[in-house]
This record gives sequence, structure tokens and C-alpha cells, in this order.
Amino acid sequence: ESAIRLRGLTKTYRGRNKQPDKLALRPTDLDIPAGSIFGLLGPNGAGKSTLINILAGLVTKTAGDAWIWGYDIARSPRQARAAIGVVPQELNIDPFFTPRELLDLQAGLYGVPKRERITTEILEAVGLADKADSYARTLSGGMRRRLMVAKAMVHSPPVLVLDEPTAGVDIELRRSLWAHVRALNRAGTTIVLTTHYLEEAEEMCDRIAIIDQGRIVACDSTANLLSSV
Ligand code: ADP
Ligand code: ADP
Repeated sequence: ESAIRLRGLTKTYRGRNKQPDKLALRPTDLDIPAGSIFGLLGPNGAGKSTLINILAGLVTKTAGDAWIWGYDIARSPRQARAAIGVVPQELNIDPFFTPRELLDLQAGLYGVPKRERITTEILEAVGLADKADSYARTLSGGMRRRLMVAKAMVHSPPVLVLDEPTAGVDIELRRSLWAHVRALNRAGTTIVLTTHYLEEAEEMCDRIAIIDQGRIVACDSTANLLSSV
């Protein structure tokens, strides 16, 4: 069963001010198995963010189809959106909110009923339970990143996407973040992460797709992929 399924998914950014059009994602087929930790590995400009932003509903596809947890992003956008949580690269957190307030706010945005809220459990899952009522401005960079993960999990999506989760993060924080992401995966969440670190994909992922210049050039289990390079 595929958590994410792409068929011929394509993106061309229209050039403005006489700039040429940019084919950022060539027609792409991809199946991401439910339950996996899946890595999208590629250099800057390869098209990773474009792909993720289409799934997140932030960028409109030019052609082709995409399904999230069986929901067509064009025909069933609300259901598709509810099935995915996206952790962006930027740590845009209001410094004068506490983690608990941020998560409650996010739950409100997603229409999660109060009795079903699991704010405390989510904060425990990312190791922030003891910071639940501290101002975000007092949290370290690593804690803020984990808070972003918690925020993306508030509506209990079956699929969690992390865009370059450890860009600019030192090795110790990277390991701690990996451990928390693995724990979410063991609890049943399908994980998709983008990275340009081979080491990160190798450590974390069951399967890897290599993307370059808008094209998937390889896709296999991590073991097979690494034995062929
Ligand atoms: P990254 O590779 O880390 O995703 P980019 O530098 O490619 O970052 O993009 C940063 C932001 O600028 C993104 O929101 C992207 O959509 C936008 N962007 C990137 N390239 C262009 C471009 N040629 N024209 C307009 N916007 C762009
Ligand atoms: P990655 O995330 O792998 O770094 P992106 O998806 O951000 O790659 O970018 C893929 C290509 O599309 C790059 O050449 C980038 O400059 C271009 N691009 C991204 N966003 C825009 C945009 N809004 N307008 C025009 N070109 C863009």
C-alpha cells in the first residue's frame, strides 16, 4: 500500500518579467510504501522542495496526479491535506508562545476536537514535555526543530514530511532528532524526508530516491542503492 503515489507529476514555474519558464519537476512516478522512512536525496535545486510543496498544497502541479493516503490532491484536497503533516525548513516560531499554546492553536486550525487533543503525548514523543509551558524564545535550536515536528503531528497525520530537517544542525542535535523521528515511525507514522546529506539518508531511510534536475534517477532500498554506487 502506498502512502504517497505520484503518476506523471510535473511542475513548470512560469517565468515572470520575460524570464524563461523553469521545468522544476519532470513527469515523475513514485510510490512511497506505508510504514517506511523514505528519503528524497539530491543537491540544491534538484526539485525536492517543489515536490514537497505540491504535496503540502503550497504549490500547484502543472500536470499529472498525486495521491496522499489514497486521496487525490486535486479532487480531495481537504482529505489529502489532513493525511499529511509537513515540517518546513524554516524555524518560524513565535517566540512568545509556549509549546502547549502553539500546539493548541494548530489543533484549532485543523479542527481537532478538544477531547481528542494529545498535546502532552506529542510533546513527550519529541522530548519536550518538560518545556510545555516555557516561552519558545527560551528553547534551543534543536528544541525548536522538535517543536516544529510536534506541530506537524497535532492532527495525527499518517504521513509526516520533513524538508531538510537537519540543515545547519550539528551532529549531536541531528542524532537526537533522528531518534525522535524513528520513534514516530515505530508508532506507525510514514516518514518522508528530504536531504542533501547521503549520511543522513543512509542512517535514517529504508528506501531512497535520488533526484537530480527534476528527475528521479534512482529509487531502491537503501542497501541496494548504496551497494550499486
Ligand atoms: P531550497 O533549495 O533550499 O529549497 P531555493 O533557494 O531553491 O531554496 O528557494 C528558496 C525560495 O525561493 C523558495 O520558496 C522557492 O520557491 C523560491 N525560488 C527559488 N528559485 C526561484 C526562482 N528562480 N524564481 C523565483 N523563486 C524562486
Ligand atoms: P530543491 O528543494 O531540491 O533545492 P527546488 O524544488 O527548490 O529544489 O527548486 C527546483 C528548481 O526550481 C530550481 O532550479 C529552483 O531555482 C526552481 N524554482 C523553485 N521555486 C521556484 C519559483 N517559485 N519560481 C521559479 N523557479 C523556481
